[in-house]
Amino acid sequence: MDTITHPRPVERIVQGQATSDGAGVRLVRMLAQPLQRRLDPFLMLDPFGSDEPRDYLAGFPDHPHRGFETVTLMLAGRMRHRDSAGHEGLLEPGGVQWMTAGRGVVHSEMPEQAEGRMEGLQLWLNLPAADKMREPWYRDFRADEIPAATADGVRVRVIAGRALDTDGAVLRAATEALLVDLQLEPGARFAHALPASHNAFVQVVAGTVVIDVASVAAGRMVILANPPEADGVVLAAGAGVSRVLLAAGRPLNEPIVQYGPFVMNSQQQIAQALHDFRRGVLA
Ligand code: MN
Repeated sequence: MDTITHPRPVERIVQGQATSDGAGVRLVRMLAQPLQRRLDPFLMLDPFGSDEPRDYLAGFPDHPHRGFETVTLMLAGRMRHRDSAGHEGLLEPGGVQWMTAGRGVVHSEMPEQAEGRMEGLQLWLNLPAADKMREPWYRDFRADEIPAATADGVRVRVIAGRALDTDGAVLRAATEALLVDLQLEPGARFAHALPASHNAFVQVVAGTVVIDVASVAAGRMVILANPPEADGVVLAAGAGVSRVLLAAGRPLNEPIVQYGPFVMNSQQQIAQALHDFRRGVLA
């Protein structure tokens, strides 16, 4: 565990906005356009979770993406992915799908169940301008393929970046993206060094965590402040077992222009993406 002398304070606790996307899947949007500059290089965070099949059954039929990466962490239920680059995979509990849209894919994300609980999170990570038109890339990681380490009552699954001397499943040099799935025993504490310039947030998935002076309940997102003296993140579980997603990254500081499923650097590039999609070039 890292030694942190100046932990990041809480800047803001975000409640999120209930909405629906795809063919009518109900979800809560925590991070959207108003926070993209503040949380650069992260573009979107959508937790989804329901025991009610009509909230998720319609899924996300064929739709395009260009210019960024999607990371989906499945917590309960099963989701089938198919894309125009020929990739197909089944996402199961604890599994992670990492898709680099690059110059473009058309894909579907469809529930593979007609009953029971479906729960997970999807995060969008931006690509630097130089990589937005790269070849698409895709990988499914089963739960047991995510590197993990345990220390002091904290189990850390390292999806991206490096934590507890463990390299994550994916490493991204441009943003040094850190994405860890933490499960904390009651009262356990997690401390992780982080450059003050990196933007960071915590999504509480289950239980309660204490950050700085704030006690934060499940379903909330915490934006961590970036004072220049801060040397890392410290969080502690409340009275029960807690699960949180911690994300951090070096901001790209490039223009962000989003139109639906396309995130580029200029309006002209968005117009090109729409043009290419309509011509079928993305598929
Ligand atoms: Mn998608």
